[in-house]
Amino acid sequence: MPADPLNSTSQQAVEVRRSARRRRTVSAYREGDRTVVMIPARMSPDEEQRWVGVMLDKLAAQESKRLLGDSELAARAAQLSEQYLEGRAQPASVRWVTNQNTRWGSCTPAEGSIRLSHRLRGMPEYVVDYVLLHELAHLLVPGHGPRFWQLLDVYPRTERARGFLEGVVAADRLPHLPAARDE
Ligand SMILES: [Zn+2]
Repeated sequence: MPADPLNSTSQQAVEVRRSARRRRTVSAYREGDRTVVMIPARMSPDEEQRWVGVMLDKLAAQESKRLLGDSELAARAAQLSEQYLEGRAQPASVRWVTNQNTRWGSCTPAEGSIRLSHRLRGMPEYVVDYVLLHELAHLLVPGHGPRFWQLLDVYPRTERARGFLEGVVAADRLPHLPAARDE
């Protein structure tokens, strides 16, 4: 089956698969970091383009419904602090921001505020948890010295989450985007 790799606005790879058995139905699903759109074999290129757009919007809308809002994010932070930092990190505010494209998360210890990049939305839960925990730990220890990483060591998926984020950076070809570093 020939596949046409396209580029969507969300910078995700889209693979269009044509199926002779399909008559009218179009469907789409995520497969790893790709989005597969199934279309009938006889669809014209114009129709294909239109349907790919429709299906990407539809998937994004479905996924955004499952995402955490700011209040859930604050609750999640409290839970992570409790579970991994003995409840010592107590942020005054935790929220999503859209103006943060080169950092996954940031915090202002003096204000107790934590901000997470909207780019994390839709990433696996353990990755969002890692970034959240990373920023929570900064409320206790600034910088990235041994004392800081010691705090993160108790989270079992630190290495995996960092690897995931590095992969995202590599895929985006943004070499200057560090993995959840925030200085
Ligand atoms: Zn950091």
